[in-house]
Amino acid sequence: MNFVVPAALPTTLEVTDTTDRFPVRRVYCVGRNYAEHAREMGHDPDREPPFFFCKPADAIVPSGSEIAYPLATQNLHFEIELVVAIGTGGTHIKAADALDHVYGYAVGIDLTRRDLQGEAKKMGRPWDSGKGFDQAAPCTAIRPASQIGHPSSARIWLAVDGKIRQDSDIDRLIWSIPETIEHLSGLWTLQPGDLIYSGTPAGVGPVEKGETMTGGVDGVGEIEIKIT
Ligand code: MN
Repeated sequence: MNFVVPAALPTTLEVTDTTDRFPVRRVYCVGRNYAEHAREMGHDPDREPPFFFCKPADAIVPSGSEIAYPLATQNLHFEIELVVAIGTGGTHIKAADALDHVYGYAVGIDLTRRDLQGEAKKMGRPWDSGKGFDQAAPCTAIRPASQIGHPSSARIWLAVDGKIRQDSDIDRLIWSIPETIEHLSGLWTLQPGDLIYSGTPAGVGPVEKGETMTGGVDGVGEIEIKIT
């Protein structure tokens, strides 16, 4: 096949302890999925069904990368999240069957240009410029569920230059991973290669040029990203 402009390479992530790769198709993200984070953003966590936004697949950057401070923002925020890697697709997947569709798990940072997101919220505009920018989706290698099972309780944390900023447990998700997959697959047909950033706990805040974010979910992985 002859492409008339250079074709983008597919985005892939390592699979832990192998030379295999996980091909990334789409990146879905859940908004406000921990009660204290919903409250810190000015919302009532009890009255909101889950909602979703997307990042482009090529916004994925592997752990260990240095990222240039993004364009057009003065308020870049970190959001540490458990990431779900879909292995088998489907539509209208029931929560009871949802984990059969999961290939594995990873740890991601939902980087956010909070100033642009705030402006979009105020104007009733889409969130793409706040959420879907270049290099907005750092992510670790995928750890297969065949190795670690399906974590429902584990510490999730993020530190900036060694100082803990987010510290919670994935058992505090408002919508569990199976429930999230049930909702999401009623809106889009999930496919192998889809990633789901499952939402962030409280404590989000800015990261500056020269600072290094480290974070993790116990039993899943640890991520490190420096902003340059
Ligand atoms: Mn998020």
